[in-house]
Amino acid sequence: PQREAVDLRQVVDHAVDLLRAFADKAHVTLDVESDGDAFPAHVDAGQIQQVITNLVMNAVQSMDDAGRVELRLTAINAQPPEDVNLTAGEYYQIDVTDNGSGIPEERLHDIFEPFFTTKDVGAGTGLGLSISYGIVQEHGGWISVTSEVGQGSCFSVYLPKSAPAE
Ligand code: ADP
Ligand code: MG
Repeated sequence: PQREAVDLRQVVDHAVDLLRAFADKAHVTLDVESDGDAFPAHVDAGQIQQVITNLVMNAVQSMDDAGRVELRLTAINAQPPEDVNLTAGEYYQIDVTDNGSGIPEERLHDIFEPFFTTKDVGAGTGLGLSISYGIVQEHGGWISVTSEVGQGSCFSVYLPKSAPAE
């Protein structure tokens, strides 16, 4: 990746601003919140914007009618899940929470596979999550998801606070 020093909040805000018209059309409100005010990071801003765009578009598309998508940015001391080969430490966490359809538990692993989609032909390529996972992985982070059918989903992106070796 082409990494540069950026403020992660600005990267998130920029991606969300570009999606406002798309969300408005679907009667979905988009909100961004963060704990604290500075999120200095060393990332490929364009790629991270692409990840946020994919997650927010999925969230908006999971709504039947109107809905709400909330993004929340925090700095945490994270213990990566066991299947992720990363060390515990300081990470930024970006939550993208929706109150859309939710995802059945047995499908949670499939959704990160390339070309897996439940959308109509033309509506989705099934590449968004696999590409997003790859981008985040290359940045030394991971994505986790929790979901409940009929309630909604929360995708959490974890990115290390300090840049890993390229
Ligand atoms: P696409 O959006 O092109 O279908 P993705 O890789 O972005 O491909 O997502 C794969 C699948 O995961 C979607 O087709 C959908 O079934 C499911 N999915 C992803 N995000 C959400 C979400 N926020 N709510 C419900 N289902 C989701
Ligand atoms: Mg998608």
